[in-house]
Amino acid sequence: MDIKQTADKHIANTYARYPLALVRGEGCRVWDDEGRSYVDFIAGIAVCNLGHAHPALVETLTAQARKLWHVSNLFYTQPQAELAAWLTEHSFADRVFFANSGAEANEAAIKLARRYFKENGAAERYRMVSMKQSFHGRTMATLSATGQEKVRKGYDPILEGFDFVAFNDIEELACAIGPATCAVMLEPIQGEGGVVVPHRDYLAQVRKLCDESGCLLIYDEVQTGMGRTGKLFAYEHSGIAPDILTLAKALGNGLPIGAMLATERVASAFVPGAHATTFGGTPLVTSVALKVLKLIVEEGILDEVQPKGDYFRSGLEKLKSKYPVIEEVRGKGLLVGARLNIPGAPIVNACMERGYLINCVQDNILRFAPPLIISREEIDGVLDCLDEVFTTI
Ligand SMILES: *Cc1c(COP(=O)(O)O)cnc(C)c1O
Repeated sequence: MDIKQTADKHIANTYARYPLALVRGEGCRVWDDEGRSYVDFIAGIAVCNLGHAHPALVETLTAQARKLWHVSNLFYTQPQAELAAWLTEHSFADRVFFANSGAEANEAAIKLARRYFKENGAAERYRMVSMKQSFHGRTMATLSATGQEKVRKGYDPILEGFDFVAFNDIEELACAIGPATCAVMLEPIQGEGGVVVPHRDYLAQVRKLCDESGCLLIYDEVQTGMGRTGKLFAYEHSGIAPDILTLAKALGNGLPIGAMLATERVASAFVPGAHATTFGGTPLVTSVALKVLKLIVEEGILDEVQPKGDYFRSGLEKLKSKYPVIEEVRGKGLLVGARLNIPGAPIVNACMERGYLINCVQDNILRFAPPLIISREEIDGVLDCLDEVFTTI
Protein backbone atom coordinates (compact mmCIF):
# COMPACT_ATOMS: atom_id res chain seq x y z
CA MET A 1 0.00 0.00 0.00
CA ASP A 2 1.24 3.49 -0.83
CA ILE A 3 0.52 5.22 2.47
CA LYS A 4 0.42 8.78 1.12
CA GLN A 5 -1.70 7.96 -1.91
CA THR A 6 -4.22 5.96 0.13
CA ALA A 7 -4.44 8.68 2.78
CA ASP A 8 -4.88 11.45 0.23
CA LYS A 9 -7.66 9.50 -1.44
CA HIS A 10 -9.62 8.41 1.63
CA ILE A 11 -8.99 10.78 4.54
CA ALA A 12 -11.01 14.00 4.82
CA ASN A 13 -8.97 16.68 3.17
CA THR A 14 -8.57 18.94 6.22
CA TYR A 15 -4.78 18.75 6.48
CA ALA A 16 -2.00 19.65 4.08
CA ARG A 17 0.38 16.97 5.29
CA TYR A 18 4.15 17.04 4.95
CA PRO A 19 5.29 14.36 2.50
CA LEU A 20 6.48 12.01 5.22
CA ALA A 21 4.90 8.80 6.48
CA LEU A 22 6.24 8.19 9.97
CA VAL A 23 6.39 4.69 11.32
CA ARG A 24 8.36 4.73 14.58
CA GLY A 25 9.66 7.02 17.30
CA GLU A 26 12.15 6.82 20.13
CA GLY A 27 13.04 9.69 22.43
CA CYS A 28 13.44 12.84 20.32
CA ARG A 29 13.71 10.95 17.04
CA VAL A 30 11.17 9.59 14.54
CA TRP A 31 11.66 7.37 11.49
CA ASP A 32 9.85 7.41 8.16
CA ASP A 33 8.77 4.44 6.05
CA GLU A 34 11.99 4.61 4.07
CA GLY A 35 14.13 4.27 7.17
CA ARG A 36 15.27 7.91 7.37
CA SER A 37 15.35 9.44 10.84
CA TYR A 38 14.47 12.96 11.95
CA VAL A 39 15.06 14.93 15.12
CA ASP A 40 11.61 16.01 16.23
CA PHE A 41 11.26 19.70 17.12
CA ILE A 42 7.46 19.54 16.81
CA ALA A 43 6.73 16.66 19.20
CA GLY A 44 3.27 16.15 17.73
CA ILE A 45 2.55 19.87 18.32
CA ALA A 46 3.82 20.22 21.89
CA VAL A 47 2.40 16.84 22.87
CA CYS A 48 5.19 14.28 23.34
CA ASN A 49 6.97 16.17 26.13
CA LEU A 50 8.76 13.05 27.35
CA GLY A 51 9.60 11.96 23.83
CA HIS A 52 8.39 8.99 21.81
CA ALA A 53 7.97 5.50 23.20
CA HIS A 54 9.20 6.42 26.69
CA PRO A 55 9.88 3.02 28.31
CA ALA A 56 8.14 3.87 31.61
CA LEU A 57 5.06 5.12 29.75
CA VAL A 58 4.97 2.06 27.50
CA GLU A 59 5.15 -0.02 30.68
CA THR A 60 2.32 1.91 32.35
CA LEU A 61 0.16 1.81 29.23
CA THR A 62 0.59 -1.92 28.61
CA ALA A 63 0.09 -2.80 32.28
CA GLN A 64 -3.14 -0.81 32.33
CA ALA A 65 -4.19 -2.23 28.94
CA ARG A 66 -4.04 -5.70 30.46
CA LYS A 67 -6.19 -4.58 33.39
CA LEU A 68 -8.99 -2.19 32.36
CA TRP A 69 -9.46 0.19 29.40
CA HIS A 70 -12.82 1.80 29.81
CA VAL A 71 -15.93 1.53 31.94
CA SER A 72 -17.52 5.01 31.49
CA ASN A 73 -18.05 7.63 34.15
CA LEU A 74 -20.94 5.72 35.62
CA PHE A 75 -18.25 4.14 37.81
CA TYR A 76 -15.24 5.16 39.87
CA THR A 77 -11.75 4.21 38.72
CA GLN A 78 -8.53 4.64 40.63
CA PRO A 79 -6.29 6.22 37.95
CA GLN A 80 -8.87 8.95 37.29
CA ALA A 81 -9.30 9.71 41.00
CA GLU A 82 -5.54 9.78 41.52
CA LEU A 83 -4.89 12.02 38.53
CA ALA A 84 -7.57 14.51 39.64
CA ALA A 85 -6.08 14.57 43.14
CA TRP A 86 -2.59 15.10 41.73
CA LEU A 87 -3.66 17.95 39.45
CA THR A 88 -5.52 19.78 42.21
CA GLU A 89 -2.68 19.31 44.69
CA HIS A 90 -0.26 20.88 42.21
CA SER A 91 -2.42 23.79 41.05
CA PHE A 92 -4.87 26.49 42.12
CA ALA A 93 -7.78 24.16 41.37
CA ASP A 94 -10.10 22.04 43.50
CA ARG A 95 -11.88 20.00 40.84
CA VAL A 96 -11.18 18.49 37.45
CA PHE A 97 -13.43 17.57 34.53
CA PHE A 98 -11.81 15.09 32.13
CA ALA A 99 -12.29 15.48 28.39
CA ASN A 100 -10.60 14.01 25.33
CA SER A 101 -9.01 16.98 23.61
CA GLY A 102 -8.13 20.62 23.99
CA ALA A 103 -11.27 21.77 22.24
CA GLU A 104 -13.41 19.69 24.56
CA ALA A 105 -11.62 20.98 27.64
CA ASN A 106 -12.30 24.53 26.42
CA GLU A 107 -15.87 23.65 25.53
CA ALA A 108 -16.32 22.56 29.15
CA ALA A 109 -14.74 25.81 30.37
CA ILE A 110 -17.08 27.93 28.23
CA LYS A 111 -20.12 25.99 29.39
CA LEU A 112 -19.05 26.17 33.04
CA ALA A 113 -18.49 29.94 32.90
CA ARG A 114 -21.98 30.55 31.48
CA ARG A 115 -23.62 28.12 33.83
CA TYR A 116 -21.89 29.57 36.86
CA PHE A 117 -23.63 32.91 36.37
CA LYS A 118 -26.97 31.29 35.50
CA GLU A 119 -26.77 29.32 38.75
CA ASN A 120 -25.89 32.47 40.67
CA GLY A 121 -28.79 34.60 39.52
CA ALA A 122 -26.92 36.59 36.86
CA ALA A 123 -28.23 35.00 33.67
CA GLU A 124 -27.50 38.21 31.74
CA ARG A 125 -23.77 37.53 32.10
CA TYR A 126 -23.02 35.20 29.20
CA ARG A 127 -20.53 37.09 27.00
CA MET A 128 -16.88 36.21 26.89
CA VAL A 129 -13.89 38.32 25.98
CA SER A 130 -11.10 36.51 24.21
CA MET A 131 -8.05 37.56 22.26
CA LYS A 132 -7.30 38.32 18.67
CA GLN A 133 -4.94 35.70 17.21
CA SER A 134 -6.00 33.25 19.92
CA PHE A 135 -6.65 29.59 19.31
CA HIS A 136 -9.06 27.57 21.41
CA GLY A 137 -10.13 24.71 19.17
CA ARG A 138 -12.40 23.66 16.30
CA THR A 139 -15.75 22.84 17.88
CA MET A 140 -18.49 25.42 17.31
CA ALA A 141 -18.07 27.05 20.72
CA THR A 142 -14.28 26.99 20.70
CA LEU A 143 -13.94 28.30 17.15
CA SER A 144 -16.37 31.03 18.16
CA ALA A 145 -13.95 31.89 20.97
CA THR A 146 -10.99 31.81 18.58
CA GLY A 147 -9.76 35.19 17.35
CA GLN A 148 -8.67 34.06 13.90
CA GLU A 149 -10.87 34.59 10.86
CA LYS A 150 -9.41 31.59 9.01
CA VAL A 151 -10.63 29.25 11.75
CA ARG A 152 -14.19 30.66 11.76
CA LYS A 153 -14.58 31.08 8.00
CA GLY A 154 -17.45 29.10 6.48
CA TYR A 155 -19.22 28.28 9.74
CA ASP A 156 -21.60 31.19 10.21
CA PRO A 157 -23.64 31.70 12.23
CA ILE A 158 -21.05 31.07 14.91
CA LEU A 159 -21.95 31.07 18.59
CA GLU A 160 -23.06 34.47 19.78
CA GLY A 161 -21.44 36.30 22.69
CA PHE A 162 -17.70 36.55 22.00
CA ASP A 163 -15.82 39.83 21.97
CA PHE A 164 -12.22 40.12 20.82
CA VAL A 165 -9.44 42.40 21.98
CA ALA A 166 -5.74 42.63 21.17
CA PHE A 167 -3.54 40.39 23.34
CA ASN A 168 -1.35 42.49 25.65
CA ASP A 169 -3.61 45.57 25.36
CA ILE A 170 -5.04 46.14 28.83
CA GLU A 171 -6.91 49.34 27.89
CA GLU A 172 -8.82 47.56 25.15
CA LEU A 173 -9.70 44.76 27.53
CA ALA A 174 -10.93 47.22 30.16
CA CYS A 175 -13.29 48.72 27.56
CA ALA A 176 -14.53 45.34 26.36
CA ILE A 177 -15.51 43.98 29.77
CA GLY A 178 -19.10 44.95 30.46
CA PRO A 179 -22.04 44.00 32.69
CA ALA A 180 -22.80 41.04 30.39
CA THR A 181 -19.27 39.61 30.50
CA CYS A 182 -18.99 36.25 32.26
CA ALA A 183 -15.33 35.56 31.55
CA VAL A 184 -12.07 36.56 29.97
CA MET A 185 -10.35 33.69 28.18
CA LEU A 186 -6.73 33.69 27.08
CA GLU A 187 -3.61 31.63 26.54
CA PRO A 188 -0.82 32.70 28.94
CA ILE A 189 1.41 32.48 25.86
CA GLN A 190 -0.33 32.41 22.47
CA GLY A 191 0.80 29.27 20.67
CA GLU A 192 -0.91 28.99 17.29
CA GLY A 193 -1.04 32.79 17.19
CA GLY A 194 2.76 32.79 16.82
CA VAL A 195 4.35 32.22 20.25
CA VAL A 196 3.26 35.60 21.64
CA VAL A 197 4.44 36.23 25.20
CA PRO A 198 2.52 38.61 27.48
CA HIS A 199 4.08 41.79 28.82
CA ARG A 200 5.23 41.74 32.42
CA ASP A 201 2.23 42.52 34.67
CA TYR A 202 -0.29 41.87 31.88
CA LEU A 203 -1.81 38.81 33.56
CA ALA A 204 -1.93 40.62 36.91
CA GLN A 205 -3.76 43.51 35.26
CA VAL A 206 -6.18 41.11 33.55
CA ARG A 207 -6.85 39.40 36.89
CA LYS A 208 -7.52 42.79 38.49
CA LEU A 209 -10.02 43.75 35.78
CA CYS A 210 -11.78 40.40 36.19
CA ASP A 211 -12.00 40.80 39.95
CA GLU A 212 -13.31 44.34 39.70
CA SER A 213 -16.04 43.34 37.28
CA GLY A 214 -16.77 39.99 38.92
CA CYS A 215 -16.10 37.98 35.77
CA LEU A 216 -14.09 34.78 35.65
CA LEU A 217 -10.60 34.31 34.28
CA ILE A 218 -9.98 31.28 32.07
CA TYR A 219 -6.49 30.21 31.01
CA ASP A 220 -6.20 27.95 28.01
CA GLU A 221 -3.01 26.07 28.86
CA VAL A 222 -3.63 23.33 26.33
CA GLN A 223 -0.29 24.20 24.71
CA THR A 224 1.62 25.92 27.53
CA GLY A 225 0.75 23.47 30.30
CA MET A 226 2.60 20.37 31.46
CA GLY A 227 6.03 21.91 31.75
CA ARG A 228 6.38 23.34 28.25
CA THR A 229 7.49 26.74 29.56
CA GLY A 230 9.56 25.47 32.48
CA LYS A 231 6.81 25.46 35.10
CA LEU A 232 4.12 22.81 35.29
CA PHE A 233 1.63 25.53 34.27
CA ALA A 234 2.67 28.74 32.52
CA TYR A 235 0.58 30.86 34.89
CA GLU A 236 3.01 30.00 37.69
CA HIS A 237 5.59 32.35 36.14
CA SER A 238 3.32 35.27 36.99
CA GLY A 239 1.81 33.78 40.13
CA ILE A 240 -1.57 34.96 38.87
CA ALA A 241 -4.06 32.09 39.13
CA PRO A 242 -7.21 31.78 37.03
CA ASP A 243 -10.64 30.47 38.03
CA ILE A 244 -10.64 27.87 35.27
CA LEU A 245 -7.70 26.31 33.40
CA THR A 246 -7.67 23.87 30.51
CA LEU A 247 -5.09 21.25 29.57
CA ALA A 248 -4.73 18.67 26.84
CA LYS A 249 -1.82 18.33 24.41
CA ALA A 250 1.03 17.04 26.61
CA LEU A 251 -1.13 15.72 29.45
CA GLY A 252 -1.10 12.17 28.08
CA ASN A 253 2.17 12.50 26.12
CA GLY A 254 0.22 11.45 23.02
CA LEU A 255 -2.77 9.61 24.42
CA PRO A 256 -5.84 11.76 23.84
CA ILE A 257 -6.87 13.39 27.09
CA GLY A 258 -8.02 16.87 28.03
CA ALA A 259 -8.86 18.37 31.39
CA MET A 260 -10.64 21.40 32.76
CA LEU A 261 -9.53 22.51 36.20
CA ALA A 262 -11.57 24.91 38.34
CA THR A 263 -11.92 26.27 41.83
CA GLU A 264 -14.60 24.79 44.08
CA ARG A 265 -16.66 28.00 43.91
CA VAL A 266 -16.89 27.90 40.11
CA ALA A 267 -16.93 24.12 39.67
CA SER A 268 -19.97 23.89 41.93
CA ALA A 269 -22.08 25.04 38.97
CA PHE A 270 -21.51 21.61 37.43
CA VAL A 271 -23.86 19.07 39.00
CA PRO A 272 -24.76 15.53 37.86
CA GLY A 273 -26.14 15.74 34.34
CA ALA A 274 -24.82 19.26 33.63
CA HIS A 275 -21.99 18.06 31.41
CA ALA A 276 -20.57 14.71 30.31
CA THR A 277 -18.48 12.72 27.88
CA THR A 278 -18.33 8.96 27.43
CA PHE A 279 -14.57 8.63 27.15
CA GLY A 280 -13.55 11.37 29.58
CA GLY A 281 -10.70 10.19 31.81
CA THR A 282 -10.65 6.46 31.01
CA PRO A 283 -8.35 4.36 33.19
CA LEU A 284 -6.12 3.85 30.16
CA VAL A 285 -5.40 7.54 29.51
CA THR A 286 -5.45 8.72 33.12
CA SER A 287 -2.97 6.06 34.26
CA VAL A 288 -0.56 7.26 31.58
CA ALA A 289 -1.15 10.96 32.36
CA LEU A 290 -0.49 10.28 36.04
CA LYS A 291 2.79 8.57 35.14
CA VAL A 292 3.70 11.53 32.87
CA LEU A 293 3.26 13.94 35.78
CA LYS A 294 5.22 11.75 38.19
CA LEU A 295 8.09 11.42 35.70
CA ILE A 296 8.18 15.18 35.12
CA VAL A 297 8.55 15.74 38.85
CA GLU A 298 10.72 12.73 39.79
CA GLU A 299 13.20 13.18 36.96
CA GLY A 300 13.56 16.92 37.53
CA ILE A 301 12.53 17.58 33.93
CA LEU A 302 11.30 21.10 34.69
CA ASP A 303 14.67 22.30 36.04
CA GLU A 304 16.25 22.01 32.62
CA VAL A 305 13.45 23.45 30.47
CA GLN A 306 14.20 27.14 30.95
CA PRO A 307 18.01 26.80 30.67
CA LYS A 308 17.61 24.75 27.48
CA GLY A 309 15.06 27.21 26.12
CA ASP A 310 17.39 30.13 26.87
CA TYR A 311 20.25 28.27 25.21
CA PHE A 312 18.10 27.64 22.14
CA ARG A 313 16.92 31.26 21.94
CA SER A 314 20.44 32.65 22.32
CA GLY A 315 21.49 30.44 19.40
CA LEU A 316 18.59 31.78 17.36
CA GLU A 317 19.56 35.33 18.34
CA LYS A 318 23.02 34.68 16.87
CA LEU A 319 21.39 33.54 13.64
CA LYS A 320 19.20 36.65 13.75
CA SER A 321 22.25 38.91 13.80
CA LYS A 322 23.61 36.99 10.82
CA TYR A 323 20.41 36.72 8.74
CA PRO A 324 18.16 39.79 8.57
CA VAL A 325 15.20 37.62 7.43
CA ILE A 326 14.87 36.67 11.11
CA GLU A 327 13.04 39.59 12.69
CA GLU A 328 12.37 38.42 16.23
CA VAL A 329 13.13 35.50 18.51
CA ARG A 330 10.67 34.86 21.32
CA GLY A 331 9.05 32.36 23.64
CA LYS A 332 9.47 30.87 27.07
CA GLY A 333 11.08 27.59 28.05
CA LEU A 334 10.86 25.17 25.16
CA LEU A 335 8.03 26.95 23.36
CA VAL A 336 10.18 28.91 20.96
CA GLY A 337 9.30 31.15 18.03
CA ALA A 338 11.25 32.95 15.32
CA ARG A 339 9.37 35.53 13.27
CA LEU A 340 10.64 35.86 9.71
CA ASN A 341 9.97 38.50 7.09
CA ILE A 342 9.67 35.74 4.49
CA PRO A 343 7.35 32.70 4.31
CA GLY A 344 8.39 29.93 6.67
CA ALA A 345 7.29 26.93 4.58
CA PRO A 346 10.48 26.66 2.46
CA ILE A 347 12.59 26.77 5.65
CA VAL A 348 10.51 24.00 7.21
CA ASN A 349 10.90 21.86 4.06
CA ALA A 350 14.64 22.47 3.83
CA CYS A 351 15.06 21.45 7.49
CA MET A 352 13.03 18.31 6.84
CA GLU A 353 15.36 17.36 3.98
CA ARG A 354 18.22 17.72 6.44
CA GLY A 355 16.59 15.54 9.10
CA TYR A 356 14.89 18.08 11.36
CA LEU A 357 11.14 18.45 11.91
CA ILE A 358 10.14 22.00 12.74
CA ASN A 359 6.93 23.82 12.02
CA CYS A 360 5.53 27.16 11.00
CA VAL A 361 2.48 29.07 12.25
CA GLN A 362 0.86 32.23 10.88
CA ASP A 363 2.80 31.70 7.58
CA ASN A 364 6.02 33.32 8.80
CA ILE A 365 6.68 32.27 12.38
CA LEU A 366 8.85 29.21 12.91
CA ARG A 367 7.66 27.37 15.98
CA PHE A 368 9.80 24.92 17.90
CA ALA A 369 8.26 22.69 20.57
CA PRO A 370 10.64 19.75 21.00
CA PRO A 371 10.24 17.08 23.66
CA LEU A 372 11.33 18.57 26.99
CA ILE A 373 14.05 15.89 27.10
CA ILE A 374 15.78 17.40 24.06
CA SER A 375 19.57 17.65 24.52
CA ARG A 376 21.83 20.65 23.95
CA GLU A 377 23.55 18.64 21.20
CA GLU A 378 20.23 18.26 19.41
CA ILE A 379 19.54 21.97 19.84
CA ASP A 380 22.99 22.68 18.36
CA GLY A 381 22.02 20.37 15.52
CA VAL A 382 18.87 22.26 14.57
CA LEU A 383 20.72 25.58 14.90
CA ASP A 384 23.46 24.36 12.52
CA CYS A 385 20.79 23.09 10.17
CA LEU A 386 19.02 26.48 10.19
CA ASP A 387 22.35 28.24 9.68
CA GLU A 388 22.92 26.17 6.56
CA VAL A 389 19.35 26.65 5.32
CA PHE A 390 19.37 30.43 5.77
CA THR A 391 22.62 30.67 3.79
CA THR A 392 20.88 29.13 0.79
CA ILE A 393 17.95 31.56 0.61
C1 LIG B 1 -4.13 22.76 20.28
C2 LIG B 1 -4.85 23.76 21.06
C3 LIG B 1 -6.23 23.66 21.30
C4 LIG B 1 -7.08 22.60 20.67
O1 LIG B 1 -6.76 21.33 21.10
P1 LIG B 1 -7.32 20.06 20.30
O2 LIG B 1 -6.85 18.91 21.14
O3 LIG B 1 -6.72 20.11 18.95
O4 LIG B 1 -8.79 20.17 20.27
C5 LIG B 1 -6.82 24.61 22.10
N1 LIG B 1 -6.11 25.60 22.65
C6 LIG B 1 -4.79 25.73 22.45
C7 LIG B 1 -4.05 26.84 23.12
C8 LIG B 1 -4.11 24.82 21.64
O5 LIG B 1 -2.81 24.97 21.41
